[in-house]
Amino acid sequence: MPATILDGKKLAAKCKEQIRLEAAALPRKPGLAVIIVGDNSASRVYVNSKKADCEECGFLSEEYALPETTAQQELMEQIEVLNARDDIDGILVQLPLPKGIDEEAVLRAISPEKDVDGFHPMNMGALLIGKNAFVPCTPAGIMEMLEEYHIDPAGKHCVVVGRSNIVGKPMALLLMQKHGTVTVCHSRTKNLEEICRSADILVAAVGKVGLITADMVQPGAVVIDVAMNRNEQGKLCGDVLYEEVLEKASAITPVPGGVGPMTRALLMKNTLAAARQHLGL
Ligand code: NAP
Repeated sequence: MPATILDGKKLAAKCKEQIRLEAAALPRKPGLAVIIVGDNSASRVYVNSKKADCEECGFLSEEYALPETTAQQELMEQIEVLNARDDIDGILVQLPLPKGIDEEAVLRAISPEKDVDGFHPMNMGALLIGKNAFVPCTPAGIMEMLEEYHIDPAGKHCVVVGRSNIVGKPMALLLMQKHGTVTVCHSRTKNLEEICRSADILVAAVGKVGLITADMVQPGAVVIDVAMNRNEQGKLCGDVLYEEVLEKASAITPVPGGVGPMTRALLMKNTLAAARQHLGL
């Protein structure tokens, strides 16, 4: 039987509608400031979609488009101004930053209370000890999706392929918090195929077209494809060979329309939470 398609687009629309209603009940609009440095075309698409999401949710949205030549100090000063603003609840610096800018220092400059991306070491540390504050949007969105489809990680073998700070590591921590037995794989992992085949829940977050084939998937497994790649025809696709895995998995996320829209919805959710906190509600 073909897998259940985990419809991130539909679920994200439902989440955003709920967020819009909750935001409308606040004394003022939640405010999100997005800083983009340079002219990376993928970043531009992401920033535009964040702006559209803010509009949909009734948020105040501000964009700071800084030139490629922006000095780190200038960027830090911009963050400081936004940290001090009462009407801005969330600050997001679109990554990657141009060469020569210390990404870690920039992320650290954002006030942890306004770090709606959840990348500040304070928020990462909170996640590590299970005291979640702002959780990175992609893994948080995946957890919402699992919950919506009544997929409980408790006692399951969850395999996360990829160990980045923004996806793989927080994903592993969240699955562990929900009592999954977690294995994290990366580029040095031996026997990737075998480990993937033992997964009840398999999360692919690498960025390599065709990395996960049907023979790496256990019949009935839940397969979450985080990646956003372009195949040879220029079509958007994930790490998973979707058509063949569809026949083997019990549930699967499509690319596009799976994890991506949930990531966007979770940014709105984090911004709403930041606004509530900021307003003392
Ligand atoms: P990243 O920082 O490049 O991390 C990739 C991870 O994959 C690394 O841990 C790397 O291992 C591992 N890896 C590389 N080759 C491998 C292989 N052959 N076998 C097993 N593991 C391998 O990427 P990221 O930022 O986490 O993003 C991953 C993918 O998700 C990308 O396609 C990105 O575009 C996508 N993404 C999507 C969303 C969304 O909303 N849908 C959000 C964020 C990212 P090492 O650590 O050993 O190098």
